[in-house]
Amino acid sequence: MKQQKAIVVFSGGQDSTTCLFWALERFAEVEAVTFNYGQRHKLELDCAADIARELNVKHHILDMSLLNQLAPNALTRDDIAIEQKEGQLPSTFVDGRNLLFLTFAAVLAKQIGAKHIVTGVCETDFSGYPDCRDVFIKSLNVTLNLSMDYPFVIDTPLMWLNKAETWELADRLGAFDFVRERTLTCYNGVMADGCGECPACRLRQKGLDDYLAVRGREANG
Ligand code: ZN
Repeated sequence: MKQQKAIVVFSGGQDSTTCLFWALERFAEVEAVTFNYGQRHKLELDCAADIARELNVKHHILDMSLLNQLAPNALTRDDIAIEQKEGQLPSTFVDGRNLLFLTFAAVLAKQIGAKHIVTGVCETDFSGYPDCRDVFIKSLNVTLNLSMDYPFVIDTPLMWLNKAETWELADRLGAFDFVRERTLTCYNGVMADGCGECPACRLRQKGLDDYLAVRGREANG
């Protein structure tokens, strides 16, 4: 029997779309939540809404413009370059993002009677983002449960996967083509395989190449 109800923190990118398919396989009822924090590309929100509609998933979009006001960053501001200086977090890091997103997702989850909160955070390809670490998620899970006296479970199906393994998971879920063609990961707002130049595209493409190489070997061997 499928377990209960879940809410997926959903951006319309490769990782969270894979998580959405993962949740749809596992839970009886799934809803998705997307945060509008003034992303450079409004296309990101449209893309998320389209995917949710197509997969027949109820979609909540919550306004988090406060985040941009507090923590200007390269994801929301055209005048901040996407870069990573030696020994520093990349300029795409947003202080407090996962803390706030997961907290608001939890408030919503409780309202809609969902116990599970699914997020695509990942420690493996972690560019040093402190709020993508497993220890942070576990700590926040305890805090959320205490704060609302509610038995939340934060699920992180991608936590220990590299990008090639995330493609493999999408494939196993029957969603490889969908994820490849319909998601937006690119910092320059180009759908699917993206601009090919930005760090997000390079990471995504490398994972895809690695996975296709493995799949090719399996098919031949
Ligand atoms: Zn790109």
